[in-house]
Amino acid sequence: MNVRVGVIGVGMIGQDHIRRITQVLTGGSVTAVNDVDAARAGQVAAGLPGAHIHDTAAALVADDNVDAILVASWGPAHEEQVLAAIAAGKPVFCEKPLAPSSAACQRIMDAETAAGRRLTQVGFMRRYDAGYRAMKAALDDGTLGPPLLMHCAHRNPSVPPYFTTEMSISDSAVHEIDIARWLFGEEITAATVLSPRRSGQAPDGVRDPLILILEMAGGALVDDELFVNARYGYDVRGEVVCETGTVALADTSEVTVRTANRHGGRVPVDWRDRFIRAYDTELQEWLDAVAAGTSTGPGTWDGYAAAAVTDAALEALRTGQRTAVTMPERPDFYAKAP
Ligand code: NAP
Repeated sequence: MNVRVGVIGVGMIGQDHIRRITQVLTGGSVTAVNDVDAARAGQVAAGLPGAHIHDTAAALVADDNVDAILVASWGPAHEEQVLAAIAAGKPVFCEKPLAPSSAACQRIMDAETAAGRRLTQVGFMRRYDAGYRAMKAALDDGTLGPPLLMHCAHRNPSVPPYFTTEMSISDSAVHEIDIARWLFGEEITAATVLSPRRSGQAPDGVRDPLILILEMAGGALVDDELFVNARYGYDVRGEVVCETGTVALADTSEVTVRTANRHGGRVPVDWRDRFIRAYDTELQEWLDAVAAGTSTGPGTWDGYAAAAVTDAALEALRTGQRTAVTMPERPDFYAKAP
């Protein structure tokens, strides 16, 4: 089956997803686009023979030539657009965040539960990264023993002028929040944020770096260094310490050069460079699941849980206090796959 995708929001990542659907992946085509910037929608559609440009997201969702929706607009618009897709009974891939607050994610959960079918996938692409997948396989294998700690680092070379300290949590740490839940197979129960000496490279008003500490339901601790002005490159690290061994993400450099008593490799330029294959795998598996009428990736519950932990971490950032995560038990409708 060819999945005909309608894309809402054709900015940076929307265009990148269109490129992969049309040039890299199999089983999908882009048949409609919408963007609040009509000129941008027109430019993008010009490269997509036969694609319709819709004035509104609602019209795109209703288009009979659209089987599934890809939401890549900005976060505050996601809730309305995902709800429209659910109301139409169409599968929807929504870039993170599912919605900007746990209350908004709850409304999506309510609508999806009422619809009686899991239709939503959230863009937590790290679950599709070969390194994280190998790490999860090593943990699930059990030979390392129970996990006790995870050390993470999330370093960006620099950030745009609109970046705020809060975005280190809501835009950066949200990826470690999801990956920790997925790797440990547990929810996060509390968050604390520590603020070390501020880098002189940080823009005025931005506290950078930060340390986020997450408490897992089983008692393990996850520390996450968030450093968004690290200058030297984009560097994502992860190591899980278990009772009888550890598992860490390997260096992503393709080669190591040794010369003149030194050795060195490449550090990724940015997140696209580091995770390009993960995005490809993520969208290919989504297209395959849509074609098969199933749902396999991180869903509405995962988007909700990430938002609930983000809410707690932002509160911890504001107050300097350890903050418990407030969320209900995972509903049966979102029970994990056996
Ligand atoms: P972007 O370049 O600003 O693109 C967003 C596009 O959506 C813009 O063209 C914007 O138009 C348009 N838009 C805004 N509100 C809309 C609405 N109500 N209906 C339709 N279109 C709307 O942003 P981006 O970097 O691509 O990010 C898009 C989303 O992807 C964000 O939620 C972001 O967090 C997420 N993202 C995820 C990852 C990841 O690692 N998974 C990476 C990057 C981004 P205007 O410019 O006119 O506002």
